[in-house]
Amino acid sequence: MRALTIEPRRPGSLRLEEVEEASGPAIRVRTLAIGVCGTDRELVAGEYGEAPPGRDRLVLGHESLGRVIEAPRGSGLQTGDLVAGIVRHPDPVPCANCALGEPDMCRNGRYTERGIKQLDGFGAERWAADAGFVVKVSPVLGLAGVLLEPASVLAKAWEHIERIGLRSRWAPRRVLVTGAGPVGLMGAMMGVQRGLEVHVLDRNEDGPKPALVRGLGARHHLKFPAFEPDIVIEATGAPGVIAQAVAGSAPGGIVCLTGLGAAAHAASFDVATLNQSMVLENRVVFGTVNANRRHYHEAAKALERADRGWLERLITRKVPLEGWREAYEKRPHDVKTVLAFED
Ligand code: BGC
Repeated sequence: MRALTIEPRRPGSLRLEEVEEASGPAIRVRTLAIGVCGTDRELVAGEYGEAPPGRDRLVLGHESLGRVIEAPRGSGLQTGDLVAGIVRHPDPVPCANCALGEPDMCRNGRYTERGIKQLDGFGAERWAADAGFVVKVSPVLGLAGVLLEPASVLAKAWEHIERIGLRSRWAPRRVLVTGAGPVGLMGAMMGVQRGLEVHVLDRNEDGPKPALVRGLGARHHLKFPAFEPDIVIEATGAPGVIAQAVAGSAPGGIVCLTGLGAAAHAASFDVATLNQSMVLENRVVFGTVNANRRHYHEAAKALERADRGWLERLITRKVPLEGWREAYEKRPHDVKTVLAFED
């Protein structure tokens, strides 16, 4: 079968090639589409990633949508079900979190990730996984089901924001999301679903992003707004924006960092002032990555509740498999690019 592979850490090594089909895991899936994100572009650029032990090449793809072609009785899945694969697998020790089924919180860094770290991804015509690493996607979502994995990252972010919020009486009103990429927009969508007043800071004046923000009923800002948000979801990874987000949040505010920016854009940060504002006004700044099965389920519910047309507009480019090279190029006004294995 055909698969998209890279030699991790070697720029320009991306190719579509014939690979052996995995045998072993019980659930077999035919790929409909994979999503492309910043991590994939870093992998293609040779900046990130690790091949499976003893191999040079890694099958790419961690945002998946497929159809079950084989599932044993009792697995909870049936032939024809739409599904997505869970990215992170527990470390072999396992650490306390991995042992609990929460490898997103792995303590020893020995977790593996499909399409990223030591495990082949979903960017192949077929893939297989054990039932515990496959999540059902509602058929009403269609191609938008490919958004489940990035949405799971935001479902985790919101869960942790709310858990931290419960340290005291908490009645947040205003959320600021920085960055209107797929992560920021889905974070904003979940804020709107919670009945909060949502604001999105993004540098794009035109193109689909401001319209997608407004389509949620949220406010679009080109500059840091004049109010102090109770919650910030930071999705740019840009040090200057992070500094503003922390300094500009409300007393008792929670700032959730989800983005990874270029190290080259360093910003100076006054740690003493940061410390004062965090201590004297009970601010929290925390980071979050990845998601576990519980978050995939929450994300599936959030996607089902979302406006279908809005979710479809988030997918700004659908590239057929033959055009794989183009799918990994970043173009102006891209929001989410999807590589379609089938129509
Ligand atoms: C993925 C996560 C993964 C992270 C780090 C992100 O793009 O969505 O699942 O944990 O990259 O590898």
